[in-house]
Amino acid sequence: MNRPTPTVRLFNTLNRKKEVFMPMASGKVRMYTCGPTVYDYAHIGNFRAFVFEDLLKRWLKHRGFKVFHVMNLTDVDDKTIKGSQSQNTPLKQYTDFYANAFFEDAAALNIEPANVYPRATEHIPEMVALIKRLLAKGFAYESDDGSIYFAISKFPDYGKLSKIQVHDLKAGARVKVDEYAKEEAQDFALWKAWTPEDGDIYWETEFGKGRPGWHIECSAMSMKYLGETFDIHVGGVDNMFPHHENEVAQSEAATGKPFACYWLHNEHLLVEGKKMAKRFGNFYTFRDLQKKGCDPMAIRYLLLSTHYRQQFNFTFEGLEAAKSAVERLSNVMRRLQDADGKSSGEIAQLIINVGECFGDAMDDDLNVSVALASLFDFVREVNNLIDANNISKLEAKQAHSLLKSLDKVLGVVGEAEKKDTLQKEAQDLIAKREEARKVKDWKTADMLRQQLKAMGIIVEDTQQGVRWKVEEA
Ligand code: AMP
Ligand code: ZN
Repeated sequence: MNRPTPTVRLFNTLNRKKEVFMPMASGKVRMYTCGPTVYDYAHIGNFRAFVFEDLLKRWLKHRGFKVFHVMNLTDVDDKTIKGSQSQNTPLKQYTDFYANAFFEDAAALNIEPANVYPRATEHIPEMVALIKRLLAKGFAYESDDGSIYFAISKFPDYGKLSKIQVHDLKAGARVKVDEYAKEEAQDFALWKAWTPEDGDIYWETEFGKGRPGWHIECSAMSMKYLGETFDIHVGGVDNMFPHHENEVAQSEAATGKPFACYWLHNEHLLVEGKKMAKRFGNFYTFRDLQKKGCDPMAIRYLLLSTHYRQQFNFTFEGLEAAKSAVERLSNVMRRLQDADGKSSGEIAQLIINVGECFGDAMDDDLNVSVALASLFDFVREVNNLIDANNISKLEAKQAHSLLKSLDKVLGVVGEAEKKDTLQKEAQDLIAKREEARKVKDWKTADMLRQQLKAMGIIVEDTQQGVRWKVEEA
């Protein structure tokens, strides 16, 4: 079902319309996504963004593109500095902790890793070089305290992404904080001169003692790994202004070239109609949900099953429905593995239909809800065929491999299947080991224990019998 490009259409925020996706180099996609600010555990609103980006990447790969993906880690900004100081922990130790937590959560949600995860603190020279280019071209200026600002009046295209109108700019009005509203559009800080509140967080550079502004971080890191112009830039809609607007301004002013060709923005995950956000206190982290016993694959399904440009409310009922959907999918895949009836000849057409419907919907700006509807129609038909014993072993195999290829895009069953297989293999080995122990064949028992350990399974002999668990990574 891999069709040649270009069939994928994406809604480009730059032009506010769906456009056929054409990467700069045929068949190759260079993509940058704004990663987490590692000052706390990411909440599931953040993971809506990361799961969407994962779905986009998996779909592009499904369509035959090679994707090179860069996701930054914001490990120095107003929030990380404040957090590390309030915990009395060095910035690096503080942000490393949350970066590791992010990687663990992302893996549990079956998010494919990016090719590079650049950290802002490791790219200060690149940021300094970019700021120097802006100074040299007259787009930036130094203020009295030694901070450096971007002069938005010098960049006529300022506002082209978020479509804000910059009226009546007071000459020299500036904003130094990283986050601010559209109404406060002003010259923004590229480099922040050290102040006592920054404590020991500063870099000695040719601009003096200071630290970068948040926006310049993403410009410097994306251009370092992807070039001055690249294909896709993604992030949540809350980052469109000022973060992405400022990224465009800084990068294009410095290079004189277009920055990202396609900008994609996911809408918010809400709680009772309000954006899920740390500052509103209405959030769940992935870990909160795990502690409540929620299945990571159900969480993943829930986050990806609404079209990315639509808001939706997080509810536990929604999560239950997501869990049932994942179960239906894994059940039918399991049933297909055992099916061995007589052929009705119907499956070939059903496979063609679902392949086309799913593909057309996903090509249409990742219209995942329509794609999922066609998938579950297929699941229903297949279940009917299995119930009536009207599917041969070969047909079942074909249906199974179709479902497997679609799940490679969704990423919700594969993990569960892997766990099932692991459990089955482990149980067989444990049973063998029990038999060996019964006949006091300690050598074999020991060897089997080692074999299980190599699979990441720890066996414990307790008074209540044998217990086993998967070793913590
Ligand atoms: P941050 O760690 O705050 O830099 O955010 C990481 C990503 O999550 C960014 O792309 C944000 O735009 C996105 N994001 C933050 N809150 C939400 C939300 N409630 N729903 C969807 N995306 C969000
Ligand atoms: Zn960014």
